[in-house]
Amino acid sequence: MQQYDVAIVGGGIVGLGHAYAAAKRGKSVVLFERSARAQGASVRNFGMVWPIGLKAQNLALGLRSRDLWREVLDDAGLPYAATGSLHLLYREDEEAVVREFIGKAPALGYECEWHTPGEVLGRSAAANPEGLRGAMWSPMEITVDSRLVVGEIPGYLSERFDVTCHFSEPVRRVSAGVVETAQRTVKAEQVYVCSGIDFETLYPEVFAAEPLKKTKLQMMRTGSQPGDWRLGPSLAAGLTLQFYPAFEICDTLPALKTRIAAELPEYNRWGIHVMVAETSLNEMTLGDSHEYDLALELFDKPEIDELILRYLAQFARFPKPEIAQRWHGIYARHATKDFIEVDAEPNVRIAMVTGGKGMTLSFAFGEKMVTKTLGLA
Ligand SMILES: Cc1cc2nc3c(=O)[nH]c(=O)nc-3n(C[C@H](O)[C@H](O)[C@H](O)COP(=O)(O)OP(=O)(O)OC[C@H]3O[C@@H](n4cnc5c(N)ncnc54)[C@H](O)[C@@H]3O)c2cc1C
Repeated sequence: MQQYDVAIVGGGIVGLGHAYAAAKRGKSVVLFERSARAQGASVRNFGMVWPIGLKAQNLALGLRSRDLWREVLDDAGLPYAATGSLHLLYREDEEAVVREFIGKAPALGYECEWHTPGEVLGRSAAANPEGLRGAMWSPMEITVDSRLVVGEIPGYLSERFDVTCHFSEPVRRVSAGVVETAQRTVKAEQVYVCSGIDFETLYPEVFAAEPLKKTKLQMMRTGSQPGDWRLGPSLAAGLTLQFYPAFEICDTLPALKTRIAAELPEYNRWGIHVMVAETSLNEMTLGDSHEYDLALELFDKPEIDELILRYLAQFARFPKPEIAQRWHGIYARHATKDFIEVDAEPNVRIAMVTGGKGMTLSFAFGEKMVTKTLGLA
C-alpha cells in the first residue's frame, strides 16, 4: 500500500489550500478528486478574494490568505489582478453606512477610503455616473479566474512539490488513515476531508450533527469585452451592504435594511445582491442570489436573472452587456460557524469554510489546519 504523510479528499480550493500548505512544508501529499476536474463552488464563483467583506475577526486570516494566493499564482505563473474594489453608492442611507464603516474600519485593520464621484470615474470605466454619490474604495481585493486557476493549481503542485493528484477517483471510505477509492487504497498519517457540499458520502453523521444548509446562487457571465476596455476594480453596490458581515458593525445598517425590505422585497425574497468581477478573458462575471434549502430546485429561475440585471443597470455599464453563460453554484452555510474543523476520527479532519468566503480564506485556512494538526510552524 502506497504511504503518504497527508491525504486530501476534494480538489476544490479548500483541498488545494491544504495540499499547498502541507507540500510547502516538505510533506508528501496525495489528493483525490471525484470528477475529471473540480466542478464545485470553487469554479462557479466570482473569483473574488474579498477581505473587505469579512467580519473583523476573520480579516487577518483573509489578508494572509490573499498573500498566499499571490505567492502560489506568482510561483505558478498563473494570472490574477490586484483590482481592489468599489462599493458604488446612490442613496443617502447607503452613503451613511459606508461613511460609518470607513470611520470605524481602519482601527479594525481594514484599508478603505471614501471616493468622490470624480475619483470613482477615474478608477472605473463601468461605474454609472447618474446619481452617483460616491463610493468606498478598498485596495485589498484581488481577482482570480477561478475556472483557470483551480484547473491549473493541481498540475503546479505536482510539478513543484511531492504532490500526487488522482482525478476521477471518488473516495468511498476513510478509516484509520486508510483511504479507499475504486482504483486504489493508500495510507496517510493525516487525512483532510475537504469535500465541500458532499455531506452524504463520507462521515454523513458528522455533517448531520451540524446545522448546515445548502445555499444555491445563480450567476451569469458576459462574453469578452472589446479591445482594451477593462472593468478595473470589482464592483458592488448598496444591496451588498446588507450581505457581508463586515458592515454589521454599522449602527446605520438597520435603517438601510428597512428601506430595502420596503422598496425591493423581491430582492430580499431571493437573497439578491449584485457584484461584478472580471475574468482573465475580460468577461464580466455577475451575480448573485441566495436560496436556502437542502432540497434545492434543480432548475434556475429566469426572474432572478432579470432582477440581477435590472439592479446591475443602476450602477454598472459594459460595452458588451449580452449574457453568454448562466449557471448556479451551491455552498454550505452554517447557522453559527464560519469554519468546520471536526476530527471525524483520530487523524481524519473534516475541513470546510462555510458561506460565500471560501475562495478568500482557502489558503490561510489550509495553512492553519495543516500547521495545527501536524504540529508544524
Ligand atoms: C456562486 C458562488 C459564488 C461565490 N463567490 C465567492 C467569491 O467570489 N469569493 C469567495 O471568497 N467565495 C465565494 N464563494 C464561496 C466559495 O466558492 C466556496 O466557499 C469554496 O469554493 C468552497 O471550496 P471547497 O473546496 O470547500 O468546495 P468545492 O469547490 O465544492 O470542492 C469540493 C470538492 O470535493 C470533491 N469531492 C467531494 N466528495 C468527494 C469524494 N468522496 N471523493 C473525492 N472527491 C470528492 C468534489 O467533487 C469537489 O470538487 C462562492 C460560492 C458560490 C457557489
